[in-house]
Amino acid sequence: MQFDLFDADRNRIVGATTYEDFATRLRDSGCQRCALGKTRTHIVVDRGNPAAKVLVIGEGPGGEEDAQGKAFVGRAGKLLDSIMTAIGLDTNRDLLIANVVKCRPPENRAPRTEEARACLPFLQKQIALVAPRIVCLLGATALKHLDPDRPEFAMGDEAGKEIELAPYPRIPFMVLYHPAALLYNANLKPAMWEHVKALRRWLEQEGLHPNPRKAPESGRVPAAHA
Ligand code: SF4
Repeated sequence: MQFDLFDADRNRIVGATTYEDFATRLRDSGCQRCALGKTRTHIVVDRGNPAAKVLVIGEGPGGEEDAQGKAFVGRAGKLLDSIMTAIGLDTNRDLLIANVVKCRPPENRAPRTEEARACLPFLQKQIALVAPRIVCLLGATALKHLDPDRPEFAMGDEAGKEIELAPYPRIPFMVLYHPAALLYNANLKPAMWEHVKALRRWLEQEGLHPNPRKAPESGRVPAAHA
């Protein structure tokens, strides 16, 4: 992560030396580095535990997240909570959840390249301060913004497997379906269940699962919350 000689506000935020200080500086910054700053209510930095070993990254805040100033608190977030509970993880204790862009894209569209690029220094700072043992990306869009030079990602073949991203050496990544995709297409749930079981196995093998007692291998992705 580099400092920008001409962007004192950004430098002040990414110059933080603790996660808490970084999060406070970003939340209070009034950032207008991209167009999303004009329409947001809150800058949504995260939800969860900054000391967690697993960092989860989605695309951007939705309406509920924008209103509350917390990541993944809407329907997709509640489904994510249920999915992680099913593999023995508490999203507020065992994960830190963040997004590629910290401000809500209008109409919940995907973040644009220029928006993701403007916000990337903040995500990179989060990754550096959290120092996660694994990063789970929710959807191929998040992957595209983190590693634009990577060849097209095949969700069907590559999701749920450990991958490497050239810009982030030494950090294993795993792509999972975005829970919002499961809300619209229930046919994806069996594959998602296999992917999160793979995540659980990875954490157990690394000695990082908080509850290493083996859960049953069968089961289903929990039903979406209304
Ligand atoms: S999305 Fe990121 S770069 Fe854009 S205004 Fe919000 S905090 Fe700033």
